Amino acid sequence: MENNHQVTDTKSPLQPHVLIFSLPFQGPVNCALKLAELLCLSGIHVTFLNTEHIHRPLLLHTHVVSRFNRYPNFRFETIPDGVEHEKPVSADRFMEVMEGIDTVSRPLFREMMVSGSLSSRSVRPVTVMILDAFLSFGLDVALETSIPVVFFETVSPCFLWTSCFNLPTLIEAGDVPFQGGNLDELIKSVPGTEHIIRRRDLASFCRSDDLSEPIIDLLLNEARTVPQAQGFILNTFEELDSLILPHMRKLCPNIYPIGPLHSLHKARLREKTTLMSPKTTFSNSVWKEDRTCVSWLDKHAPKTVLYVSIGSLATITVNQLLEIWHGVVNSGKPFLWVRRPGSITGGYEDSQIPTELLEHTKEIGCIVDWSPQEHVLGHRAIGAFLTHSGWNSTIESIAEGVPMICWPYFSDQQVNSRFVGQVWKLGIDIKDTCDRLIIEKAVKDVMETGGNMFRPCADGWKILAKESVTEMGSSSMNFDRLINDIRVMSSATKLSG
Ligand code: UDP
Repeated sequence: MENNHQVTDTKSPLQPHVLIFSLPFQGPVNCALKLAELLCLSGIHVTFLNTEHIHRPLLLHTHVVSRFNRYPNFRFETIPDGVEHEKPVSADRFMEVMEGIDTVSRPLFREMMVSGSLSSRSVRPVTVMILDAFLSFGLDVALETSIPVVFFETVSPCFLWTSCFNLPTLIEAGDVPFQGGNLDELIKSVPGTEHIIRRRDLASFCRSDDLSEPIIDLLLNEARTVPQAQGFILNTFEELDSLILPHMRKLCPNIYPIGPLHSLHKARLREKTTLMSPKTTFSNSVWKEDRTCVSWLDKHAPKTVLYVSIGSLATITVNQLLEIWHGVVNSGKPFLWVRRPGSITGGYEDSQIPTELLEHTKEIGCIVDWSPQEHVLGHRAIGAFLTHSGWNSTIESIAEGVPMICWPYFSDQQVNSRFVGQVWKLGIDIKDTCDRLIIEKAVKDVMETGGNMFRPCADGWKILAKESVTEMGSSSMNFDRLINDIRVMSSATKLSG
């Protein structure tokens, strides 16, 4: 950690200095780094606080340090999180990481902000905090230090609305925990989604009978703290979430929808042409990207390849792997499949796999450990995405006009997949099934053109997504408003020390 303890002249105006503290997982860190670069491009000083266990693989597999070196107004800081694993963890260790943050990082963070290297006693005090909305303890620090806080969520608004902000409503209405086993029953207590969301489409943890689970506590805390912040940044665009945002604004009036964030990031970098060349890569991956899959894609005709990935946290059993594998191969479509190390529980040997499956895979498949996904989804060869419906994957797919087959795993993915199928008409939701015939049919239905309604919808959303990040687009203007508000909040920040 940098030591820049010095008393600041309390009379001189404070320069805007934003602290970004993200959750230590691939999706949130990737988004937060893009937001950080966008702020740097707008002339704001940024300190990016990363917890140690995610910073290690980030440094190992990317050039983030040299990339950000071109911004004199940027610096990294790290904070211990008590997580000892050398490699990034999967979903089964999600709560272990969250507990590490609570017990190890939280007191250190408070100390940093109250009297340490980021406090009013430092050379460059933080004037605004942008914190992942899961880090609700940040609100106490904000109150103690009088530093404004804006929360940032990298999960979907449809999840936040139905399964986080309305979690108290669901519990009060007796909708959660579920009474009886019918997962197809509509959930009527959440305003705006009465005809859309069934029990099975609520976030995965709503299926639990036990309201004392720590994840429920985390979400209730988020629902309580986010509306008390100065603002709320979301990775969506106004048009995409026009069903949800008006409801959310009744609770949190100051929302900044600035997505698709990766598209806004690219658009702003393009304006600064020296920072963007056709060869530039912007990897924030905590696994090593295998770019050989791009030359494999180059050999395929437009919209003929199925891309398969379950993201950075989900895991599957060998049985599920085999069902999906058979379904994909039987569809006859060429496929690019990401098999993240550690994502198949217990692992498997080729000797367990039927020979014809391996042979067909050699003919029409390409399997990699980790791909440059944004680039892959933007490749002309990609025709559909078999996805776990993580929010980043979903919005990256929407931005590139790629229809989806949704096989959600946990958290917000159950809600996202419902919205993909039912609201945005962008694909097929096959949640709660894992059957080779269903998968084969879904792949064919989404990829073959005859009577396929997904393609026009995907093209339409792609256009709206692109428009939202143009100069007068909604996300672009929301981002400019955020920058302006950061400047105003910074000039009003009073030093408390
Ligand atoms: N990703 C990637 N390469 C891969 C698979 C995923 O770069 O091979 C990125 C993807 O672009 C997305 C993130 O990892 O930004 C996954 O986030 P998401 O919210 O979709 O799912 P999560 O991993 O959080 O479950």
